[in-house]
Amino acid sequence: MNQDSWRQRVCPVCGGKADFSFLDREAGARWLVCSRCDAEWLFLRLECPFCGNRDQDSLAYLTDGKELYRLYTCERCRTYIKAIDLRRSGEDVLFPLQRILTLDLDRQAHEAGYQPGG
Ligand SMILES: [Zn+2]
Ligand SMILES: [Zn+2]
Repeated sequence: MNQDSWRQRVCPVCGGKADFSFLDREAGARWLVCSRCDAEWLFLRLECPFCGNRDQDSLAYLTDGKELYRLYTCERCRTYIKAIDLRRSGEDVLFPLQRILTLDLDRQAHEAGYQPGG
């Protein structure tokens, strides 16, 4: 399986949905991380990974003060997905740990009326 060219909204390994994402160090491309098996696959930055929306007027993202984390939101399906920008992170990143470290982002998203996708 070539995870660079899959570009679907479901995991290429198990068919699960993403619940986390990251921007890679090389080009800042967005990769999704499977909620079930932690597989990673490349995905468009400007497309909602849950409903496929590509209308730029209804897609947005918020960043924290350090711009390490992002919260991608979709107005159409009212979901969000968290992202970490690896260009700004230090050592290797463990996604199970990141899910916990970013619980504050989940709180912000909920307060703004978004649901976790997937
Ligand atoms: Zn999977
Ligand atoms: Zn959407």
